[in-house]
Amino acid sequence: MLDADFFRRWMTAAAAAVDREAERLTALDSPIGDADHGTNMLRGFRAVTAALEKEDPATPGAVLTLSGRQLISTVGGASGPLYGTLLRRTGKALGDAAEVSEEELAAALRTGVEAVATLGGAAPGDKTMLDALIPAVDALAESFAAACEAAEKGAVATTPLLARKGRASYLGERSIGHQDPGATSSALLFATLAEAAG
Ligand code: ADP
Ligand code: MG
Ligand code: MG
Repeated sequence: MLDADFFRRWMTAAAAAVDREAERLTALDSPIGDADHGTNMLRGFRAVTAALEKEDPATPGAVLTLSGRQLISTVGGASGPLYGTLLRRTGKALGDAAEVSEEELAAALRTGVEAVATLGGAAPGDKTMLDALIPAVDALAESFAAACEAAEKGAVATTPLLARKGRASYLGERSIGHQDPGATSSALLFATLAEAAG
């Protein structure tokens, strides 16, 4: 079973990964965006760790809804509301249980990913974070490690795609040949979930 401490460790590990990879995320957002994805994620996840320390939420659902709220309120870019919605809706789906099973987390994350698709209007293959999030959630039925691997594979597979949503879509054909920054940060989110699971 996964308790609030597990989810706190996940968010803390995600913040550390964003710290390590911020420059790379911004570099990926340079040719097909506005070169701020790393900065956006840094600002958001610093607010997440600060809020978790200050408010010390007691349940898995509360850890994720608080984290999602921070991303929505501190990140100006498209990724803030999208990741914020992912965590908030996943947290809401977990309810107020003190512990949740891996199956419950997988189902809740699917609800969260569906909310991201509804909010952003993107479909698989549009070269967005969904191209990492959807295969990851599908693989979560197997294991955390499989989800991590599927997310990374999904992120790499965005390179040859033509962007149909977000800033990269303004470039049309010129978006081809670059890995999507949001899909790359989504892979970090699932790598750190696997890390928290040990
Ligand atoms: P902005 O584009 O506002 O500067 P970021 O650079 O932080 O925001 O985030 C860009 C990422 O957000 C993209 O790489 C893509 O993965 C994701 N994204 C943008 N628009 C959408 C959308 N409509 N649906 C899903 N993901 C999206
Ligand atoms: Mg950007
Ligand atoms: Mg921006």
